[in-house]
Amino acid sequence: MKKYDVIVIGAGSAGLVAATSAHRAGLKTALIEKNKIGGECTHSGCVPSKALLNAAKTYSSLDKYQELGLPKVKKQKVDFAKVMKQVHKIIDGIYEHETPDVFIDMGIDTIVNKSGAKFLDAHTISIGKKKLEAKYFIIATGSSPRLLPFEGMKDSAFLHNDNFWELKKQPKHLVFIGGGVISVELGSAMAKLGTKVSIVEYAPKILGPIDKEVTEYVEGVLKKDGIKIYTDTRIKKFTAKKGSANQTLHFKQGDKKKSIKADAFFQAVGRVPNIKGLNLKKAGVEFTEKGVTTNDFLETNVKHIYACGDCTTPFKFTHTASYQANIVIHNITQKKRKRNDLSILPWAVFTEPEIAHVGLTEEEAIEKYGKKNITTFKVDASIDRFITDRKTGGFIKVIFDKKNHVLGADAVGAHAGEWVQFITIVMKNKIPASKMADTIFAYPTYSEIIKKVFSRYMRSKEKK
Ligand SMILES: Cc1cc2nc3c(=O)[nH]c(=O)nc-3n(C[C@H](O)[C@H](O)[C@H](O)COP(=O)(O)OP(=O)(O)OC[C@H]3O[C@@H](n4cnc5c(N)ncnc54)[C@H](O)[C@@H]3O)c2cc1C
Repeated sequence: MKKYDVIVIGAGSAGLVAATSAHRAGLKTALIEKNKIGGECTHSGCVPSKALLNAAKTYSSLDKYQELGLPKVKKQKVDFAKVMKQVHKIIDGIYEHETPDVFIDMGIDTIVNKSGAKFLDAHTISIGKKKLEAKYFIIATGSSPRLLPFEGMKDSAFLHNDNFWELKKQPKHLVFIGGGVISVELGSAMAKLGTKVSIVEYAPKILGPIDKEVTEYVEGVLKKDGIKIYTDTRIKKFTAKKGSANQTLHFKQGDKKKSIKADAFFQAVGRVPNIKGLNLKKAGVEFTEKGVTTNDFLETNVKHIYACGDCTTPFKFTHTASYQANIVIHNITQKKRKRNDLSILPWAVFTEPEIAHVGLTEEEAIEKYGKKNITTFKVDASIDRFITDRKTGGFIKVIFDKKNHVLGADAVGAHAGEWVQFITIVMKNKIPASKMADTIFAYPTYSEIIKKVFSRYMRSKEKK
């Protein structure tokens, strides 16, 4: 039986970083994958969604030619199969650098086998007919779309982020069940490409815990794109007429009975951790329906077995997965262990304009510190670069504590995902607002909005 220092189970965003970092640290490493190396981010998440959004935003920008004094462009109908083909080209381009051979050439034993890894005991796994042993295991098996059962519709009839990328025919009317980030991003892309889009959400607002003011702004943008949003809904059932390609979704909104007829339904109602086939019980590893249970150091209850990424964290992002993978390798190789500290975690939603967030929301800051101990300072995206590019929609809200340190920020605006990173740096390095106000930013850039927040905030303080 082959013996390793580290066996990494799952070769997505977390597993790839874990395996390469372990190898770099001089550990004899094996990487085990049951589908394709690259995981969700490369094949069914970040990469295809951003590639589709790019096509959609470019297509819809043709409508703006006349505003700029340019000749009107006659928009041809979208050939959806071609759009999806270019999405796959982009996936393939990234996958080229992630094939098993790339990692085998590095010196990492890489095994791809549909059977998936299964624990035989706390020190041994099987993959296909092979048995492998290791001192340490890293579980990085990710998550999958959660599929709720609905009367009148088989699970297999739903689209979700795993099967959506195989679509060749553009849906005429696409209904998203669930109004979270996946629905909002893919919904806005599909609406821009000419599909009629509806979003049906159970909660009183879409985009879950995202700042209310940001959500309201984004809702307005989505509605302008023609997207119909139904919140506070309860789905009853699906029906279909014999021989019809359409299905009807029956639901209640408040007390009112409603229905939507459509040719495609996409479920995006949350995620389930990929832990079912792992035989975690044989290794004695504790888990819940939310995933593998880990402590602050990403150790499971079995000290030599760690977990990172979507299979353990509620913050399901590629950058969380890679951050956690590095923590795990650090904690395996170094005496002074690092904590999994997600208190300053930025993220972005790639709608047009983008949504971005870091740290505490205004609501969370009020709850934690009390209203009188925080100041929320808002600047609209109406400074020069936004104006020259006709992208003046949006704002940034920064929450300060009494010592002028930043507690968090919420933003919506052109390229917000880029410029909010400054706030992450400010928070991580505890840079005082006065220092940011004194920093020279190049003109005219989108990120000048950050300089404006700090200089206007400092001026407002001086006045008091
Ligand atoms: C539509 C969409 C868009 C997204 N966009 C973004 C974005 O813009 N930015 C962002 O930060 N995040 C985004 N995400 C989230 C991001 O994709 C995930 O957070 C990230 O991929 C998680 O990485 P992971 O390594 O934990 O899991 P995964 O990438 O899912 O990798 C886990 C791997 O483990 C394998 N595996 C599972 N079980 C076994 C087993 N028993 N044996 C061996 N292998 C196994 C799986 O096949 C998979 O390859 C998006 C997600 C979706 C669905």
